[in-house]
Amino acid sequence: MNCGSSSVKLAVVDPVTGERSLSCLGERLGSPEAVAHLTTAAGRRTVPLAAGSHREALEQLLAEVLAADLPPLTGVGHRVVQGGSRFRASVRVDDAVLAEVLELAALAPLHNPANAAGIEAARAVLGDLPHVAVFDTAFHQTMPERAYRYAVPTRWYEEFGVRRYGMHGTSHRFVSGRAAELLASQGRDPATLRLVVAHLGNGCSATAVLGGRSVDTTMGLTPLEGLVMGTRSGDVDPAVLDLVSSRTGEDVHELVRQLNSASGLQALSGLTNDVRELSAAAESGHAGAALALDVFTYRAAKHVAGLTVALGGLDALVLTGGIGENAAGVRSGLLTRLRHLGLEEDAAANADHGRGGDPAGRITVAGDGPLALVVPTDEELLIARDTVELVAS
Ligand code: ADP
Repeated sequence: MNCGSSSVKLAVVDPVTGERSLSCLGERLGSPEAVAHLTTAAGRRTVPLAAGSHREALEQLLAEVLAADLPPLTGVGHRVVQGGSRFRASVRVDDAVLAEVLELAALAPLHNPANAAGIEAARAVLGDLPHVAVFDTAFHQTMPERAYRYAVPTRWYEEFGVRRYGMHGTSHRFVSGRAAELLASQGRDPATLRLVVAHLGNGCSATAVLGGRSVDTTMGLTPLEGLVMGTRSGDVDPAVLDLVSSRTGEDVHELVRQLNSASGLQALSGLTNDVRELSAAAESGHAGAALALDVFTYRAAKHVAGLTVALGGLDALVLTGGIGENAAGVRSGLLTRLRHLGLEEDAAANADHGRGGDPAGRITVAGDGPLALVVPTDEELLIARDTVELVAS
């Protein structure tokens, strides 16, 4: 279960096969237009949810889910965005854990309260099942201090928790684990494997993974830092806020909102945050779309190369997320900019999204140098696996 402030994504997942017996998207929760879309083997149906609070809508949605023909449920895994320095792995939810998730809302005011609301509603409806919290930040708790500290006044770190936490940890953990498995079958030792995983979706981040552990990542205190994203700026000079505020009179809170929701590919292109549309527009000569993709690719390549410092080299670049898995043009641009690291695109394999020949999803030519792979992510499956593992123990 992945509960946001006005939407929720939920799936019933077989932790062994990854098969979904149900998936559900709830939208506009807490408004009169609240609605749930449910997909099962029986087909897809849309159910309006009675007007009421966010919590009431969630409980009604869960009741709709339970009314479907489902296999017996083992537990409920909840995605939680911010686990701070406290949570290094997934945990069984009890009242103390729930209270800590809410306390950590100080670091993630947009996300943790919604995640906690989802946990509360699910515990109310599914109180007889064990609940597990899976944190987006947990995988990055292995970063060394040199990677997670900002060079800012120490009081900010000690009293306010201002440091780099990193996000998308569930995806980076799943994809790096899968890549290590695939490469092990080609003779590479997982214990020493040096991977950069680039998760390129609406949100984008890249992580350096050494022997299965995250050693650096591009997102920071919040998901705003690092790569250019759909509507997020990624890295900017913080002094920008001072300048714009002095000109427009808008406060920092409002400007950070604009860096999250009105920036990125959307702002640069003046068109859309959708890479499919941007690629088509760039091809037909839209200058803004071409610029947006160029900045996106350049920034991603620069960060990938930067992360090799944390690894002391590179064995494989692993691409995932909606863009990483499907946008051959973006991947090609990225590999072209990283040729000096020894990455040499295999154009046919890339056009095929790595699905054609090599079982590891390779999109670079065979040789002694590093590889690039396309490995589809599956955060829901990892959440399901963690849940079952914790329930069993
Ligand atoms: P989220 O981060 O919300 O989970 P996704 O991982 O689904 O998002 O990624 C969404 C991005 O992937 C969008 O920019 C979308 O345009 C891009 N994308 C999805 N399919 C394709 C495709 N076939 N070709 C190019 N881009 C694609």
